[in-house]
Amino acid sequence: MLNPEAAARRAIPALDRLLKLPAVESLVSRYGRPAVTDTAREVLAEVREALGTGRTPDGGAFDESRFAGACAARLEREAQPSLRPVFNLTGTVLHTNLGRAVMPEHAARAVMTVMTRPVNLEFDLAGGERGERDSHIERRLTRLTGAEAAVVVNNNAAAVYLALNTLALRREVPVSRGELIEIGGAFRIPDIMARAGVKMVEVGTTNRTHLKDYAGAITARTAALMKVHTSNYAIQGFTAAASEQDLAELARERGLPLITDLGSGMLVGLEDYGLPHERTAREALAAGADVVTFSGDKLLGAAQAGLIVGRREPIERIRRNPMKRALRVDKMTLAALDAVLALYANPERLRRELPTLRLLARPREEIEAQARRLAPTLAAAFHGKADVAVVPCTSQIGSGSLPVDLLPSAGIAVSAHGKRRGALAGLISAAFRALPVPVIGRVKDGAFLMDLRCLEHEDEFLAQLAHIDLKELHA
Ligand SMILES: *Cc1c(COP(=O)(O)O)cnc(C)c1O
Repeated sequence: MLNPEAAARRAIPALDRLLKLPAVESLVSRYGRPAVTDTAREVLAEVREALGTGRTPDGGAFDESRFAGACAARLEREAQPSLRPVFNLTGTVLHTNLGRAVMPEHAARAVMTVMTRPVNLEFDLAGGERGERDSHIERRLTRLTGAEAAVVVNNNAAAVYLALNTLALRREVPVSRGELIEIGGAFRIPDIMARAGVKMVEVGTTNRTHLKDYAGAITARTAALMKVHTSNYAIQGFTAAASEQDLAELARERGLPLITDLGSGMLVGLEDYGLPHERTAREALAAGADVVTFSGDKLLGAAQAGLIVGRREPIERIRRNPMKRALRVDKMTLAALDAVLALYANPERLRRELPTLRLLARPREEIEAQARRLAPTLAAAFHGKADVAVVPCTSQIGSGSLPVDLLPSAGIAVSAHGKRRGALAGLISAAFRALPVPVIGRVKDGAFLMDLRCLEHEDEFLAQLAHIDLKELHA
């Protein structure tokens, strides 16, 4: 006699037969036979295993339509793109983990065009010869910065690496101890210099570095001077740093190039938009830097890229470095950069159409009005199971820009009632992350806080609140 479990197991049809079920067969045209076969095998294995643990419904009887449904659901789930849109309500406008800058629609359309058509990426249409990929944005960059030439690579880390590797390989570069920074994601100036094959010579102290410290460090082996914009931290109190003008003059006297890593960098004065000033590439060049590097997807508001601008001679050497080939950008990046840089020629369009600037410049009053408008709908979604309050908060630019300048903003705080308030804040946060378009906020003071500075697509945000899963709050 078979025990009931063994009998149930024996009653499960073979994989071959299950694959011929019309409901399973119909999945093949959509997902492909290999995926359907693999999925059916996985689901079948789980059914068999469940029998052993007594977790099967209906006393273990095999149900063909439930099996086909399970296969379809799993295939559908796995066919979803892994990169999904989210609502960035963290209060950090340029959030590296959430993809940094959001780009304007016209840039996305430009990318779409070059993705789906052959393009003159490295083809000179006038001469019918091989062209240079950087040429597509070089003129815009030189116009906007006053540089003589420009190179574009994968990101600013690559730009710093390539500039150092080109101009100082196997030689020395003095750099201030106050500028040996780490940017999130393991970009450390000393590591990049070592990997670029450059011997770093630390000068000065953490809080004070003088021009004479650089001057004293220059030897016959020195290849360049370097200045790093300490974008993600600030030293306050008894501090001193050599000015870029003085450093540039020293470099010129000694016949050395000055490399400036601007980090975020900017192409226009942020103060015109009511924001704190961030050093522009034009200012760094005007102060005498020979080579200036900055990111494409920080304040600039475009695609991930590293922009290198400066005097023609060092820039051309950087372009000819064989590593440029390994660090170059693709046509999609160039199309996005070109489209965004075009906005910079027109300050009024820039303010309206560049999402990064539009979001950073949003006045607190406007954000607060939005919070007041949305709060009742949020409160209704929680059916009185949570407190929903409009609260003042502060946003930051993010990605290492202006770390000590916080922007006044407003948000909505959702918190559970009573003693379990703090414990439930994490669960509320998880429920928002589980929405069709996940909402990413932060847990602060026992509440789930959404800073509304970056809330666009408001209707989509509101429509999905009906899906919020409140099970945990009922407990
Ligand atoms: C952000 C930053 C970098 C790295 O730029 P990515 O574009 O993220 O590679 C390098 N240096 C400074 C000073 C930065 O702020």
